[in-house]
Amino acid sequence: MNNGSATRSGCDLILVGCQFGDEGKGRFTDVFARDAFAIVRYQGGPHTGHSVITDGRKFRFVQVPSGVLRGVMGVLGNGCVIEPCGLLDEVTALEKTGLPVKLHISETAHVVFPYHMAQDEAMERWRGGSVATSQSSVAAGLNQIGSTRRGVGPCREDKIARIGLRLADLLDAELLRARLDRLLSLKRHFIENGLGIKLEELSAFRKEDWDLDELVAKYHSSGCRLASCMCDVSTLLSKARKESRFLVYEGAQSIGLDIEHGTYPYCSTGYSSAGGVTVGTGSSPGIPFQVYGIAKAYTSRVGGGPLPTELDGPVADQIVERGCEYGTVTGRRRRVGWLDLVLLRHAVQVDGISHLCLGAIDVLAGLSEVKVATSYRINGSQTDRWPAKLSDWAKVEPVYTVLPGWPDQDWLAVARQGVTALSANARRYLDFVVETLGVELAAIGIGPSREATIVLRMPSGAPVGVSSVT
Ligand code: GDP
Ligand code: MG
Repeated sequence: MNNGSATRSGCDLILVGCQFGDEGKGRFTDVFARDAFAIVRYQGGPHTGHSVITDGRKFRFVQVPSGVLRGVMGVLGNGCVIEPCGLLDEVTALEKTGLPVKLHISETAHVVFPYHMAQDEAMERWRGGSVATSQSSVAAGLNQIGSTRRGVGPCREDKIARIGLRLADLLDAELLRARLDRLLSLKRHFIENGLGIKLEELSAFRKEDWDLDELVAKYHSSGCRLASCMCDVSTLLSKARKESRFLVYEGAQSIGLDIEHGTYPYCSTGYSSAGGVTVGTGSSPGIPFQVYGIAKAYTSRVGGGPLPTELDGPVADQIVERGCEYGTVTGRRRRVGWLDLVLLRHAVQVDGISHLCLGAIDVLAGLSEVKVATSYRINGSQTDRWPAKLSDWAKVEPVYTVLPGWPDQDWLAVARQGVTALSANARRYLDFVVETLGVELAAIGIGPSREATIVLRMPSGAPVGVSSVT
């Protein structure tokens, strides 16, 4: 276990997802957390789920950074949105398993309230139809986006509208009462009269959530319980850097779900790409960061939006079952498809990725051939650029390179022996991916657990060995 004294020879590390989320950011963060002083979330909220498996035990993190499993300090930056009651429950549950949770939370992070969840559900109903997964519904941009309905989008809308409440506001019961009084009536009016949906019809409806006294008491009390964790994250991190501590930023969601660079409007509301670190933690862009991308050997997506390489049939079933492709937060079956290098190229460019961590090689094992999309054909012309127009997404035909498949192996034994123990075709696949993208490989996931990881480079500057994952 990390004793929290970690200093660095490498610079601050940003770990970002290169696809549509659920690439295994949690499991790779856990590996690199071994040498970290703090694991910092710069965006995300109660809708983000990361899983880490080690010693046969599965840990699921929602708002708490994955690094706490290593005994590392967890930091939630101002770019995160906080659902305080769920966060307190998560901390209690982790502590019951014997994990000490050292948490620091930005006092300016915005707070999710029950009316945000109600608004989230009501907005999906207003959008109407089913979740947009077919090419025609994606192009129309009218159907449901497949929100997790945890209230994150509406919370960020309030932040931008300058009517949101921040974590430090919870400590002042009088201010909280005055603000919530107006907000409850605004939200009720918006949902019932603007969207035409009765509050009682919503599955998220609970009478006490709309009672001012109960809401103030609950959120003031949660705020007070979190008071000792609240801090100025920018100053905390700046001090750590001055002491040459190794800091790791754990991405939540990914490039494809980034509000600016993702598949708008089928995206989240945060800055999930690497640029989000600066605004989401108060860290200057002048700091020398290193950026590692996280991807799976195939693509998965939960919710609506474009997925040009989407598969169905037996190959999709193999990927879903072997890859346990069910959402950590919602339990929904994820959509899956072949690896899409147009998407990864976009991530490499926008995020400035130098190294890739590629997981789930074991999930594709046993297929006779494996496809990789290297460009798109749209209206007969070939492009390797990320389309902007929704109508183009509907016409995308992936251009595939077909590579030979690889067999199942004793993956834990391969992890112990190192990359040369991987079958030749699996190595060929990995080489093809990194050469096409012009990046280097830092780690390979060949099973969901910490022990099924091959590490080729430790971003802390620590020497690499089989013990890198211990
Ligand atoms: P995150 O949101 O990016 O942290 O990813 P999640 O934890 O939500 O989802 C990733 C899923 O893929 C989890 O169920 C992981 O256990 C699983 N996973 C990650 N890497 C591998 C791998 O190398 N092999 C297998 N079989 N599963 C993996
Ligand atoms: Mg996830």
